[in-house]
Parts: sequence; structure tokens; C-alpha cells
Amino acid sequence: MKIRVLGCSGAIAAGYKTTAFLLDDDVLIDAGTGVGDLPLDALARIDHILVSHSHLDHVLSIPLLADSVLRLRAAAGRPPIQVHALPQTLEALRRHIFNGVIWPDFTRLPKAESPVLSLHPFEIGERLDLGKGRSIEVLSAAHTVPAVGFAVDAGPASGHAHWVFTGDTGPNPALWQRLAQLKLSHLVIETAFSNEEHELASLSQHLCPAALARELAHLDGPVSVHITHIKPGEVEAVMQEIASLSTGHTLRPLQAGDVMAL
Ligand SMILES: [Zn+2]
Ligand SMILES: [Zn+2]
Repeated sequence: MKIRVLGCSGAIAAGYKTTAFLLDDDVLIDAGTGVGDLPLDALARIDHILVSHSHLDHVLSIPLLADSVLRLRAAAGRPPIQVHALPQTLEALRRHIFNGVIWPDFTRLPKAESPVLSLHPFEIGERLDLGKGRSIEVLSAAHTVPAVGFAVDAGPASGHAHWVFTGDTGPNPALWQRLAQLKLSHLVIETAFSNEEHELASLSQHLCPAALARELAHLDGPVSVHITHIKPGEVEAVMQEIASLSTGHTLRPLQAGDVMAL
């Protein structure tokens, strides 16, 4: 099992793509702008999209991907791409994107009986079975809209080590309670703002380095911690503040193109 980082930035600029991870070659975790760097045949292999929340930087490649692969998948008789998310997130996609105004309703195209996308609700705490022995737990997140994180179980050979992605989140005690019960190999955690912007971080329910330190104090370790969702142009400032934190964990900035073997 491997996870490739397609995008991990909090916004766009040349060289910066928003959140998307590819598990093996068929499961997408969030669908930010990073998805657009995959060649068409790789896009057509995606069978599942797990969505952390409804914000645009995490969902905007879903409608574009549907359009890109619709003909290829229909010609090959492939089933719909399954989009998995909280019911509120699926409702937001239906109402605000696949509404015939922003984009056509690809849950009914090219044919209502065999569409390119199908929507599948999940709940926090649920374990999704994605085939090939892959199991992903839905974790809680604390954000301005209903949101989740994900824990990918690397399987029995790893002693059930988990790759964990927090999603967009502010301080979240429930997450640390659950992670205390799991074996962790990697933690991908957001730090969207620098300390100078701590008020904005708090209002928008994101983390800044000072808040990150308070969160990581709940995590037994050492764990390999990867920082994600930093705004373009702020990576150095945020990582400098993070470098001054005293923690037993290894902290590094996540980069598009990184591949993590589980
Ligand atoms: Zn968000
Ligand atoms: Zn975001």
C-alpha cells in the first residue's frame, strides 16, 4: 500500500496544489487541484473518492474529474466512481455543485441508470472497506463545516499501523482520544496559519504552530508528523515557528510528489 501526495497546499500558486492524496492507484482522499496533474489514464483508474469536507479546495476536482473520465469509463463498462463523505457534505455537493448551474448532475450522467458518480454517506467512527484488504476509519474533525479526517490501516503485516490525515481542523480533543487507541506510523496534520494569524486560525478552525504544539502534546510518540495545508508563501515562516517547538516527534513539511509506503 502506498500513498502519494498530489497536493498539500492551503491555496494555489505556481507549484502549489491543494489537498489530494492517492492511495495505491484507485482511491483518492480529497480532490483538490493536485488531482489535475494525473494523466488521463490514471484519472480513469480512480474508483473511490473520500471527501473530508465540502470546502472548495478539497472538492473542486470531483466535477472536473467526472467530466474527464466519463467517456473512458462508459466505454469500458466501469461502475460509477463512489464518492464517500458525511451526509451533509454529499448534500452540499448535490445542492451547490451538481445543480445544473455550476456543473451538470454527474450522478445522472451519461445515463441516470449508469452514471459516472455515485454518492455514499458515511459516519464518524465507521470503517470503510475499499477492497484489497484496505480499511479506512473515519475520524472526527473540528472545522467550520461538518468535517472528518481519515485513518488508513496498513494491515496485519504492519501490526495495523495507521496513516492518519486530520483533514482541516482546529483543536480537537476527540481526535487524540481515538488516536491514543491506534498504532500510528504517519500523522498528516494541518497548520494553515502562522502564529501571527492565530486569531484568524481560531475563527476559521484551523491550527497555527502554537495550537499545533498544544495538540501534539496529546500524542504519544515518537511519530513521523507531516505538516500540510500551509498557505503558499508562508511555508518558511510556519516551518520556522514549528522548528522552535519542543516535541519528541519528527516534524517536516509535506510536499506534493511525496510517496509514503505503508
Ligand atoms: Zn476547510
Ligand atoms: Zn482546506
